[in-house]
Amino acid sequence: MSGRLAGTVALVTGASSGIGAATAGSLAAEGAAVAVLARRRERLEDLAGSIRATGGTVLVVEADITDQPAAAAAVEQVVAELGRLDTVVNNAGIMLVGPVADAPTEEWEQMLAVNVQGMLYVTRAALPHLLRAVEDSPRRVADLVNISSTAGRVARPGTAVYNLTKFGLNAFSEALRQEVGPKRLRVSVVEPGTVDTELSSHVRDGVREAIVRQVEGMELLRPEDIADAVTYIVTRDRRVAVNEMLVRAAEQT
Ligand code: NDP
Repeated sequence: MSGRLAGTVALVTGASSGIGAATAGSLAAEGAAVAVLARRRERLEDLAGSIRATGGTVLVVEADITDQPAAAAAVEQVVAELGRLDTVVNNAGIMLVGPVADAPTEEWEQMLAVNVQGMLYVTRAALPHLLRAVEDSPRRVADLVNISSTAGRVARPGTAVYNLTKFGLNAFSEALRQEVGPKRLRVSVVEPGTVDTELSSHVRDGVREAIVRQVEGMELLRPEDIADAVTYIVTRDRRVAVNEMLVRAAEQT
């Protein structure tokens, strides 16, 4: 396929729904061969079918990124089957919010496992391949895009542990950016506002209603809006690094 990412390979985690699915579609439309990773294989197969229907190349990778060996094996599978790795979008994430005082601690463990540890495992496994891609590619650049949140910039009551994971992701990304930027591996953070996805459906009863009330009547972002942001970042000329992009719904405070 032609496009600004023709000849490159991208891995998108959390691609079975929402932002990840839209991002995979957008990168494929730019000509990247795309590996779509998540736990729900059927959803990935559906997405793969729609990408193939438009002439794109796609690899379905069923994996749980909280399992370190599985995350590493998933990255190796992408390189073995698609030949290289130029772009990684660390998008998989969960938001199990609610006040700290009465929170079930398993929710904290799950959020830390996916949003922090899983992201680290994928990043660690991908880095050697991304650095090699810089050398190999005519573009002479590679990209790691981490999906954070407005919650990575502003802490609010009721979202403390989610804030912790996303502030942490931002800090990690900034430090890593300085480590690998000089090698032309660009590290970027995208901070979405409220996007219409499945994310809040996992919030426990009693808390979810408050979240829904907060955004009632507001025109939310669509997954495609964040896919656009990611695609903008990874299609810049190699001399340009967009380090951070905060994208709120227009009416969001
Ligand atoms: P969705 O719930 O629609 O998508 C989350 C994705 O993460 C799914 O594909 C899910 O797939 C995947 N995932 C969850 N756990 C794992 C795991 N252990 N291993 C592999 N994949 C996993 O939510 P969004 O699209 O909204 O969220 C995407 C990212 O955007 C998240 O990091 C979120 O924090 C961030 N974000 C979202 C906002 C919003 O308002 N929606 C706002 C700001 C940031 P599966 O269950 O099949 O494994």
